[in-house]
Amino acid sequence: IKGDLNDDSILNGMDIVLFRQGMVSGFGSRTLSFAADVNYDGDVSIADLLLLNQYVTRIIREIPAARIARYDAVKADFTQGIFETVNAGYTAEAYLNLNNESGSGVTVQVSVPKTGNYLVTFRIANGSVNNRPMMLSVNGGADRWLQDFLTTGAWTTWEDRGIVLPLQAGINSITAVSNTPEGGPNMDYITMEQTDEPIAE
Ligand code: CA
Repeated sequence: IKGDLNDDSILNGMDIVLFRQGMVSGFGSRTLSFAADVNYDGDVSIADLLLLNQYVTRIIREIPAARIARYDAVKADFTQGIFETVNAGYTAEAYLNLNNESGSGVTVQVSVPKTGNYLVTFRIANGSVNNRPMMLSVNGGADRWLQDFLTTGAWTTWEDRGIVLPLQAGINSITAVSNTPEGGPNMDYITMEQTDEPIAE
């Protein structure tokens, strides 16, 4: 439950105490970090603490979910790649540079308030002249989406590439695996926004 940092199914002053402690010394686990992101924007910040405080003190009756969530690739799990700061234009602490091989990949864990279709946008740079398609999957399911990542012209030119994927209320994993020997594009972050558009074929 969002904001329920001691996992007792009640949001109260104890959760606010734990939140303040977490802001100083860290939340210790990804589960707790997800619980602390009370507004579903992908980041734990003072804004979440303010909302939790307003809810506990009954200033607000419902915690509003952010329209767009952002997750940095640098905080995701990956296989065969490195975090890099060589090519300018990224906005996170670093970007993810996957190895130039088929099978290198990244899994981003995300949390959304409602089950539905989400426009998932990857901010990427691809300085190769070639497309670097990646195979996407959600929550380890059998469905696969082959997403093109065409050249952006330079490794310092970052562009958005979006696809509509189905997500479940709660925590989801979105996996992208390089589908060519060149590997994938460099990745800065992904964003998610609920949409009425249909799921990609
Ligand atoms: Ca947040």
